Amino acid sequence: MRYRECYEKGVRRLQEADVPEAGLNALLLLEYVCGTGRSDLLAHGDRPLSLGQMEQYEEMFAKRAKRMPLQQITGEQEFMGLAFRVNRNVLIPRQDTEILVEQALKALKPGMRILDLCTGSGCILISLLAFAPECSGLGVDISAGALEVAVENAERILAEGSMRADWLQSDLFEQVEDVYHVITANPPYIPTGALEGLMPEVRDYEPVLALDGREDGLFFYRRIAREAERYLCRGGMLFLEIGAEQASDVRQLLAQNGFADIKVYQDYAGLDRVVRACVP
Ligand code: GLN
Repeated sequence: MRYRECYEKGVRRLQEADVPEAGLNALLLLEYVCGTGRSDLLAHGDRPLSLGQMEQYEEMFAKRAKRMPLQQITGEQEFMGLAFRVNRNVLIPRQDTEILVEQALKALKPGMRILDLCTGSGCILISLLAFAPECSGLGVDISAGALEVAVENAERILAEGSMRADWLQSDLFEQVEDVYHVITANPPYIPTGALEGLMPEVRDYEPVLALDGREDGLFFYRRIAREAERYLCRGGMLFLEIGAEQASDVRQLLAQNGFADIKVYQDYAGLDRVVRACVP
C-alpha cells in the first residue's frame, strides 16, 4: 500500500474507533513507522510502504484503535523540550506540568537540593536538573516500575549529569532522610469516583496508582502538607501540581500546616494548576 492510502485508511480506522484528533494521530503514527517527516504526505504520497513497515503499521493502528495512548505506542513524550521514555508504569508527562517546572526553576540557585515526590517518569526532577545544572536531587516513587523508567530517562537526558539525580522507592517521605531546599510533586489527585469518567486512554492505560487521589482527591496533599516541613530547610519551598478545582483546599491545608507566602499559578488553559508555598 502507498503512503497516502495508508494515511487515509488509518484516519478512517481511528475515526471509527472514536479516537480524538484521528487525522493528527494517523499522521504521527505513520511518520513513526516510516521514519518520515511532515512533508512526506504531500511530497511522496505515492511511495509504497515496505512489508516490514506495513506489518508495523497494522500493529500500531490496531493498538491506537483500542485507545492505547500514542505515547505508549511510540514509547516517548516530549516535556520541556526533552524526550522522555514512557510505558504503562508512568503517567505520561503533561504540558500543564511544565508550569510547575518553570516556577520551580525560578526558585533554584546553584547548590540547591530538590526532592521530587511521586516522580513517575522523572520528568519534573530531570528537567529541573537539565536546566539548573548546578543543583542535585532525589526522585521518589512508591512504584519500582516507575523508578526504572526514571533512571533510564536520567541516563539518557542528563548523560554524565545523571549522577546528580538519586532515586528511591518510598511511599512519599517514608524512606526519605535528608533535608531539601525545594520539594516538588505531581501527586495523584483525581477523586476515585471520577476515574471511571476519564477518557479511555487515561482510564484504561495509565497507572491508576498515579491518578487516584482517593475519596476527595486530596489524600496526598494532606499527607504532604503535614510532613513536608520536616524535610525542608528554613526558607524552603514546596511546589505542587493540583487539579483545577483544588486550589482553595490545598491552599488551606498548607496554611493550616504553617506554610506561608502561598501562591497559585494557572496553566495554559487558565486553570489553577500549581500551588507554591514557603517555610517561614
Ligand atoms: N493531569 C492528569 C490528568 O488529567 C492527572 C495527574 C495526576 O493525578 N497527578 O489525567
